[in-house]
Amino acid sequence: MKTITLRKGKDQSLRRYHPWVFSGAIAKGDDGIEEGELVRVVSAEGDFMGIGHYQIGSIAVRILTFADEAIDDAFWSRRLAAAYAMRRGLGVIRKENDMYRLVHGEGDQLPGLIIDIYGPAAVMQAHSVGMHLQRKEIATALQTIMPQLQCIYYKSDTTLPFKAGLSDESGFLLGKPMELMAQENGLRFHIDWLKGQKTGFFLDQRDNRALIEQYAQGRRVLNMFCYTGGFSVYALRGGAELVHSVDSSERAVEVTDRNVALNLPDCTHHRSFAEDAFKFLNNIGKNKDSMFNDYDLIVLDPPAFAKHRDALHNALKGYTRLNAKAMQKIKPGGILFTFSCSQAVNKDQFRLAVFTAAAQSQRFVRILHQLHQPADHPINIYHPEGEYLKGLVLQIE
Ligand code: SAH
Repeated sequence: MKTITLRKGKDQSLRRYHPWVFSGAIAKGDDGIEEGELVRVVSAEGDFMGIGHYQIGSIAVRILTFADEAIDDAFWSRRLAAAYAMRRGLGVIRKENDMYRLVHGEGDQLPGLIIDIYGPAAVMQAHSVGMHLQRKEIATALQTIMPQLQCIYYKSDTTLPFKAGLSDESGFLLGKPMELMAQENGLRFHIDWLKGQKTGFFLDQRDNRALIEQYAQGRRVLNMFCYTGGFSVYALRGGAELVHSVDSSERAVEVTDRNVALNLPDCTHHRSFAEDAFKFLNNIGKNKDSMFNDYDLIVLDPPAFAKHRDALHNALKGYTRLNAKAMQKIKPGGILFTFSCSQAVNKDQFRLAVFTAAAQSQRFVRILHQLHQPADHPINIYHPEGEYLKGLVLQIE
C-alpha cells in the first residue's frame, strides 16, 4: 500500500479521530497514487495515522481505520455487522418499520458510503471514488451479514468525478428490479429506488413525521417540498381535516398520490400540486377558493440550499425568505415545521435565518421543538460535519 506523509503538525486532527485529511495537510505522497486507492497516512515524524481512500480534491483522504489492519472482506464484514447490530439495538427494525439507514458514512466509520434498507432490498450509494471502486466487496460482505436480502442495488452518485476508466455504474449487485414497497411506522410507501432522488426515500424524517401526526388532528395542512409524501401520509393518519402536498417535480407528486392511496384508499381530503413552492406560498390568501387560503400547519422541507460553504450566504437568505413567506401566510395559532438539510448550514445559522424571518413577519413566534436527524443517521462525535438535518417546530400567533 502506498504512503501519504503529512506536513509537520498536520496530524492533530487525525489524532482526534477526525476522518478527513485535507489536501493542504499533505507534504508528499508515493509516486503513482491513483484516485480511489487505499493509502497509509503517516505523520511528518513517520508515525502511522490511519488507512483511507485517496481522492483528488479538497478532502484528499477519507480514513477508514485508525488501526494498522487489512482492508479485506473481514474488515467490511466487521464494519457492516457493527452498523447492523447498532440498528437492531435501536428498535428501528420491526415488521411495521422495515426501512432504515444501515450505513451512514462517517457515523459508521465508513466515510463515503450510504446503505439504505427497504424490506428485502438494499440501496447502496458511494460518495467517494474509493467506495465506488470497492462496491462489489462491500456488497459481498453485506450478503454475509444480511443473508435475507434479495436485492442490492448500487446507485451511482452522479456528482462523483467520473472519467476514463471510471463510469456511472448503477446496477444490481444482487437480484433484479422489482416493485418495492416498505413500511415506516406502520405506513406503507412505494419506494422509487431506481429513478427517484437519493436512494428513493428520505428516511431521515421518520421521527419528525411521527411528530407531525400528533399535531395534525383537525388541522389544514400544507406539505411543501413533499417529495414522496411522507409528511402528508402521517398528517392524514393523524386526522388532518385537509392535506395539500406541493413539489415542483411531477414524478414526486405522482408518487405522493400513490402513497396516499396505498394507506387511505378512500381519502378525499388530500390533493397534490406540481408547482413551485414560492409561487404556491405567494398565492395563499389571494385564491378564490378559500381552501387554499387557510393553512394552519405548514411543513417546509426544501432541498439543501447550500451544497458548499461558498453558497452559505445565499442559502441563509433563501431560508429566511421561505420561512418569512410561510410565517406571513399561516393562520393565527398555526404550527410551522421548518427544516434545513444543508450540511454547510449549522444549527445556529439556521435558527438565525428563521429568527430573521420571524422578525420580518412581525408575529409572535414560539419554538416548541428542536428537531434533528434520527439515530439510524448517527453523528460520529469526532466529525461534527455529519450533523446535517435541523428542524424547528414553531407556533405562530
Ligand atoms: N419532505 C420530503 C423530502 C423533500 S426533498 C420527504 O419527507 O420525503 C426536497 C424536494 O423539494 C424534492 O422532491 C424536490 O423536487 C423539491 N423541490 C425543489 N425545488 C422546489 C421548488 N422550488 N418548489 C417546490 N418543490 C421543490
